[in-house]
Amino acid sequence: TEHSERRNEHRQKSRSRASESVTCPSTIFEVVQGLDGITRTTAHTRQRYLGKGGFSVCYAIEDQHTGDILAGKVVSKIILEKPRSRAKLETEILIHGAVRHRNIVRFWRCFEDENNVYMILELCKNQTLAELVKRKKRLPEPVAARYLHQTLDGLRYLHSKHVIHRDLKLGNLFLDDETVKIGDFGLACQLEYEGQRKNTMCGTPNYIAPEVLGSSVGHSYEVDIWSLGVILYAMLIGRPPFETSDVKSTYRRIKANAYKFPEDTSISAEAQDLIRATLSANPADRPTITEFYAHPFLQRYYGGPGSPGTNHRFSPMKP
Ligand code: ADP
Repeated sequence: TEHSERRNEHRQKSRSRASESVTCPSTIFEVVQGLDGITRTTAHTRQRYLGKGGFSVCYAIEDQHTGDILAGKVVSKIILEKPRSRAKLETEILIHGAVRHRNIVRFWRCFEDENNVYMILELCKNQTLAELVKRKKRLPEPVAARYLHQTLDGLRYLHSKHVIHRDLKLGNLFLDDETVKIGDFGLACQLEYEGQRKNTMCGTPNYIAPEVLGSSVGHSYEVDIWSLGVILYAMLIGRPPFETSDVKSTYRRIKANAYKFPEDTSISAEAQDLIRATLSANPADRPTITEFYAHPFLQRYYGGPGSPGTNHRFSPMKP
């Protein structure tokens, strides 16, 4: 309802972020220059508020001509005066705009007006896995396996395109009905050559891999694998493994590989084994994506990449 949306908006506002400077008009005009040189204008109606992130506000928007409903991610040009925000937007447009897979939020196009830049994305109707886990407290193993399997399908595609996402977390795994879609490519990077190592620090505290925090040799694809371990743990236990009340102690715990499974949990030996392997301090010890698919935890429910199990075998939980 509009009331709960406003309450939600209000609650999120107290986090006080750069996205506050966004004012999105109720009609958004997209001016497109056709190949024939003729300029056409598409009008979109702003609909319900979907959420906000570090630098954007997101609304459902309806194309007034076709009636299509998509997600409009709105970034204020005031924010883009900051080099970091500009870099994030550029990365997002370049990398997200170049990938296409059923388990990745579709990036349609982007345009700007006087005040904002608009990214037009596939609308994911059912929020993210973060809200789902919060609501359900924890997810049953078959459900977690299904979401993990779909995330792997998307990630396998990304890595095959030499893209490292670098910010995989429950809040960036969007849900459209029962389909997981990886989103938010603001921290992604694309490797230019085989074996390249990256050095810039990025990620979200709870999900960040130890080699990003303190390594002189840089990091690579394995940081996404690490995040999958954090994601699986968080789905099954209800909170991420290294969570503390402050970022510094979280980093300390990540570096010390200090996490445990609560004694009262009944998560299977297979799930624990997969989490342990994935949260290996040494990136080379983590399972590869192929090994992930072959692991007994996923084999129990599904086969290899893109197996029909992800879509058909059962319908576990309404978001
Ligand atoms: P930022 O890059 O600013 O951190 P996000 O990409 O995380 O922003 O998006 C902010 C919020 O907007 C998300 O948490 C979600 O609630 C909503 N959102 C973003 N993209 C979509 C989408 N494609 N479909 C539905 N909601 C979305």
